[in-house]
Amino acid sequence: MPTTRSKAMQDVLHRKPMPQTPPSARISDYYGINVFSQHVMREYLTDEAYDLVMAAIDHGTRIDRRIADQIASAMKDWSISRGATHYTHWFQPLTGATAEKHDSFIQPTGDGRAIEKFDGSLLVQQEPDASSFPNGGIRNTFEARGYTLWDPGSPAFIIGNTLCIPTIFIAYTGHALDYKMPLLKALSVVDKAATDVCQYFDRDVTKVNTTLGWEQEYFLIDKALFNARPDIAMTGRALFGHNPAKGQQLDDHYFGSIPERAMAFMKDFEQECHKIGIPVTTRHNEVAPNQFEVAPIFEEANLANDHNQLLMDILDRAAKKHEFRVLLHEKPFAGVNGSGKHNNWSLSTNTGVNLLKPGKNPKSNLRFLTFFVNTIMAIRKNADILRASIAGAGNDHRLGANEAPPAIISVFIGSQLSKLLDDLEKNIKAGKLTPADKTALKLEIGRIPEVLFDNTDRNRTSPFAFTGNKFEFRAVGSSANCANAMIALNTIMADQLIDFKKKIDARLAKGQKKDDAILSELQVMIKDSKSVRFEGNGYSDEWVVEAKKRGLSNLMDTPSALKVWKDKKVQQLFKDMNVLDPEELHARLEVELENYILRRQIEARVCADLAQNHIIPTAINYQTRLIENVRGLKDLLSAAEFKSASSTQMKLIKEISEHLTEMKSKIDELLEKRRKVDALESAEKKAEQYASIVLPLMDDIREHVDRLEMLVDDELWPMPKLREILFAR
Ligand code: ADP
Ligand code: MG
Repeated sequence: MPTTRSKAMQDVLHRKPMPQTPPSARISDYYGINVFSQHVMREYLTDEAYDLVMAAIDHGTRIDRRIADQIASAMKDWSISRGATHYTHWFQPLTGATAEKHDSFIQPTGDGRAIEKFDGSLLVQQEPDASSFPNGGIRNTFEARGYTLWDPGSPAFIIGNTLCIPTIFIAYTGHALDYKMPLLKALSVVDKAATDVCQYFDRDVTKVNTTLGWEQEYFLIDKALFNARPDIAMTGRALFGHNPAKGQQLDDHYFGSIPERAMAFMKDFEQECHKIGIPVTTRHNEVAPNQFEVAPIFEEANLANDHNQLLMDILDRAAKKHEFRVLLHEKPFAGVNGSGKHNNWSLSTNTGVNLLKPGKNPKSNLRFLTFFVNTIMAIRKNADILRASIAGAGNDHRLGANEAPPAIISVFIGSQLSKLLDDLEKNIKAGKLTPADKTALKLEIGRIPEVLFDNTDRNRTSPFAFTGNKFEFRAVGSSANCANAMIALNTIMADQLIDFKKKIDARLAKGQKKDDAILSELQVMIKDSKSVRFEGNGYSDEWVVEAKKRGLSNLMDTPSALKVWKDKKVQQLFKDMNVLDPEELHARLEVELENYILRRQIEARVCADLAQNHIIPTAINYQTRLIENVRGLKDLLSAAEFKSASSTQMKLIKEISEHLTEMKSKIDELLEKRRKVDALESAEKKAEQYASIVLPLMDDIREHVDRLEMLVDDELWPMPKLREILFAR
């Protein structure tokens, strides 16, 4: 075996679980210990400052300079008492990672000494020199400066020796350069729209929060094997590799016992999470070998999203410490399940009501039904927006592949609720409802709680599924910032609720009673949104045909999905909702196209290099051995004996030659085509051709490599094989 591969395998064999930092106490003793939480603020702030922060969190009110100074000073004292020496504005630029620039608290006093200083102006606003973050042209055409602004809605926390302050990142012009700013705007507009609709049912509702509970899937592979696979190390996914004979067919990994080394790693990162207040609770094996999932208790969406961003960082660091590497790629291994990040989503009122949870009486059920049907309608109208929000090079391999939702956006609600909606739809009458109709409808609606307890049919093949008290957006990719999906979902929901309220108000103005107006409008919406509902197997080929008949889009790759951002109606919607203006949307389109192109470019380079420098020489090497063997046989044997004794070798020599010839011509073609594509001016065209021309060539090359892997002596194969990567413990 070549040294890198065999050394990597040796390393894995000798690994021991890392000694863990022993948890000093019960989780509750250290939970949130590094968070500038409400609890800490109570202790460190005056009543006045505390109340003003709470108002800023709950209602977005402004905090003036004097109070900001008080808060900054409290943050400094508290964080220093917990060992902090530096602070940073923590933000989420469009790279997909998080960013921070650390400054120390130190302020020289002029007499050779220094004091720790941190005031309101440093807390509220900073100007990081972050000009190389992607901005889609926003910072070229305008003033180049970018600012980070404090988000009081997400508490500051300490990592290592640094006080981290969650912030938004915007250009001098006010244009968003990050994920958090449009997310906050989308949450705010859906809050207003949902609160208004809640007024039909309950005057006490003054605020509606979006709740988000993500489930993060990931692969955990040994560091040595990762390093011995340049494709995985450089692109996050295996560009080559024959499927292991034992894949996930046996499903024996799913919910099986967690391997010891992985367990030590998990305990470690969970402890890190708990200290900064990320409420992770669930850990289990996923379907594929060495694939795992972690999920927290759901939280308000802005906070939940910050926590997911932090978790991805923590996973990475903890993995390195335990001599693993975490793969967050959506599809690291072809033919094996990919990794998603299910976004469980709901709306919850200040009165403690989950608006997507059926209630105990007809009135609360009508409210449930209102939000439920409006969600379905929002998806029906804006499926392409939702699709674009989850687009990315990695997810292109996952959507529609092994056990992942397809690129077709549909909604699953379960057979019982389907039947209920179908029954309600059948009762559609033009104009006013008769008393008998009303009684019938109320009876139907009254049945809801009972039917939902029969939650036997959870469809795992749907990209957007109702799961009893929330919707689960399952098509989100594992490496994604949830904000993208949450911005899209909450924006289209706000738009839908505003439209709904207009229609109800028009009905009320015509003298229709409130319940009648709502019921009649729901009936119309049930009918109009029907085509997006799908209860069958989303993984099946029949669904692709059926969806086409229904007029649903099936946008198979990122370049096609991203086109929606150029649609004037979509731009108008985001503008009307005050979430992103056309310029900002355009900037995002540019950034995402660029990101897609870059990733494909790197993949194409690595693919050609490895095929040329690793695979071809290995195959030739083996072929030479075969030829030598044949020569030896020829010297040794009679002509008749030789013919039969050398037939296998001769076949192999020929087969290898064929693969080498074909593969070499594909490698040359890849280099040539890529050069042409790279020379294109338009990012859109470039991305399209990476998808339609370059990617298929990479797949062709892979086919030859994978066939050669089966032919060539295992001893000579240069890179760890997928079975080694997936099953090494
Ligand atoms: P699974 O999809 O694996 O069956 P669960 O049903 O256990 O998962 O829950 C999935 C996630 O849904 C959890 O992270 C949980 O916190 C979240 N969740 C539960 N209720 C809500 C809600 N009202 N809003 C948002 N997320 C929720
Ligand atoms: Mg789930």
